[in-house]
Amino acid sequence: MVLRDFTPPSRLLLGPGPSLVHPRVLHALSLPLLGHLDPVFLRLMDEIQTLLRGVFQTHNRFTIAVSGTGSAGMEASIVNLVEPGDAVIVGVNGVFGTRLAAVVERCGGKAVRVEAPWGTCIDPAAVEQALRRSGPVKAVAVVHAETSTGVWQPLDEIAGLCRRYDALFVVDAVTSLGGVPVEVDRLGIDVCYSGTQKCLSCPPGLAPFTMSERALAAAKQRRIPCQSWYLDMALIAEYWAEGTRAYHHTAPVSMLYALREALRLVEEEGLPARFARHRLNSDALLAGLEALGLLPLPAVGRRLPMLNCVTVPPHIPEAEVRAQLLAEYGIEIGGGLGPLKGTVWRIGLMGESAAEAPVLTLLNALEALFTRYGWLTTPGRALQAASGVYGQANS
Ligand SMILES: *Cc1c(COP(=O)(O)O)cnc(C)c1O
Repeated sequence: MVLRDFTPPSRLLLGPGPSLVHPRVLHALSLPLLGHLDPVFLRLMDEIQTLLRGVFQTHNRFTIAVSGTGSAGMEASIVNLVEPGDAVIVGVNGVFGTRLAAVVERCGGKAVRVEAPWGTCIDPAAVEQALRRSGPVKAVAVVHAETSTGVWQPLDEIAGLCRRYDALFVVDAVTSLGGVPVEVDRLGIDVCYSGTQKCLSCPPGLAPFTMSERALAAAKQRRIPCQSWYLDMALIAEYWAEGTRAYHHTAPVSMLYALREALRLVEEEGLPARFARHRLNSDALLAGLEALGLLPLPAVGRRLPMLNCVTVPPHIPEAEVRAQLLAEYGIEIGGGLGPLKGTVWRIGLMGESAAEAPVLTLLNALEALFTRYGWLTTPGRALQAASGVYGQANS
């Protein structure tokens, strides 16, 4: 028996990624392939570097797309900097900080965990205390947008501490890049990585990545070679650098076409307008969710616009409602991870998903389900609250 064509059902992607993808990006994926050393393809790689410097707000020469998802960016950051015995301070307040610390330890490094309860930020004073107590520290690593909790980590103070204590500053911007400012040069971030399937609205598969001259020098001065051959940035630099273009591994040609198009869309919109769009749609969604009794987990001022983490009251069987949203309405939202499993929803409004129609569609579906279960006696309030936010913005 021969399998039939695969036709994915239509989905409104409002989870923690992947986000909705613009038709122009889907079209780019379907274009004929070029050889990965074809001069026309090499030009496309140069253009991607330029576009990535724009979203990272950096002049870093070494700004590329790592082959692999966001986790490959995380692994590349750590594996190139950390040698056995190196101390790295890691902010741990969710899944991704926990993972960063695990990667440091797999490289033989000493992960000094600065912890904070899930749903709160890492306290710069605690980072300073760790810097003071730990002796020489190779790097400080924090997650800018903790996708497991919806917390937006302020970076300014920690950046200053890294300078003062001569530690490299590593920032996970997988969820933040393209949705809120990621100011690599202004903050003096040394290594910053992201993923394509969140606010850049491209399929998963590449990890935008940038490294300062300071970080490159540190990687060059290693005593032992980088333990990963595939993610050794010194080798990969030989492929991305103009002039050398030495074969390392076959570039994911179609994914790079897609990323170029996704970044072109970002450039056309402009970063300030894109950030404002993420903010507005989050405000509207949160107003609607509040009318349904769903309140944000992080404190005011710490809430990520692209990842809205709300507490689900105990009388609501959250997994059942999520399953129904998907089955009846084709809407995907995320549940909680780790200690937050069963108690929160994580609603992503990333890139193309950050728009009025998805927000109102989700609120409408939630109102219908909540009414059916008898949790809502005055349907219409959530839509009204959200529409009010949009109305105000347009007036
Ligand atoms: C999604 C995510 C990652 C991992 O990215 P993958 O593309 O799933 O490998 C890392 N860090 C953060 C903050 C994320 O949200």
